[in-house]
Amino acid sequence: MQWKIGKVKITKVVELETIGSTRFILPLATNDEIQKLPWLIPHFATQEGRLKMSIHALVVETPSRRIVVDTGLGNDKQGRNVPTWNSRNSPFLETMTAAGFPPDSIDTVLCTHLHVDHVGWNTRLADGKWVPTFANARYVFGKTEYEHWRDHSETPDKVAVFNDSVQPIVDADKAELIASDARLCDEIAMIPTPGHSPGHMSIHIQSDGEEGLLTGDVAHHPCQMAHLDWSSTADSDPVRSTAARRELFSRFADRPVLVIGGHYNAGHIKRDGDAFKFIAWA
Ligand SMILES: [Zn+2]
Repeated sequence: MQWKIGKVKITKVVELETIGSTRFILPLATNDEIQKLPWLIPHFATQEGRLKMSIHALVVETPSRRIVVDTGLGNDKQGRNVPTWNSRNSPFLETMTAAGFPPDSIDTVLCTHLHVDHVGWNTRLADGKWVPTFANARYVFGKTEYEHWRDHSETPDKVAVFNDSVQPIVDADKAELIASDARLCDEIAMIPTPGHSPGHMSIHIQSDGEEGLLTGDVAHHPCQMAHLDWSSTADSDPVRSTAARRELFSRFADRPVLVIGGHYNAGHIKRDGDAFKFIAWA
């Protein structure tokens, strides 16, 4: 799937698609509640009220750079809390290559945050060691986010993710730590959106008068635009994540801005009373 924002091209490379079974991440989004939001159906939910979600990377091509935003789950990882996220053996890199993006052609990897399903393909297993998957890329992490997980990865699953998918990049001298409001290049700037994680960043794209927004996990699903207070179980600070949703969606609502989530497909945000709704990109 592909979109254009002025001279910037965005391609979604899917690692995993799911329908339903999202209670573990969004417990308030029951089938009954989702059916009360008919604008979600059929693009973002089924008739039965089950959520459509994906784990994907977004390849963002500017006139001068080829960037991967977020890198999914990865292969061969261990110690994950979700059983099926362990020992994966998916053809994600082959899919990327077939789409025209061999790993060596990527010059930048940008992680909105450092959760398990956004950093996996940062590394791959080679001769028993975790090495950078994108050998020619600089990996850009938020400084706040990196320092948080460096100092506060306390549970075994968090330790595993940090040690196999984040620290090897730093050890290989491939990491660049940026401020949460940094500008990456002419077309791309970060927007600090803490709450889901302490240093979470969203990505603002501007080119030739057109605009895009990659929300990362500010919302896991557009149903959170209608219910700003539906925090995901992964949100580190539900009060702040609710505020981040309100601020970010207010800023980009009712304008022709292409919005793509860390786990949902493209659309644009419309104000709807006190909250918002999301209309699939035509
Ligand atoms: Zn997350």
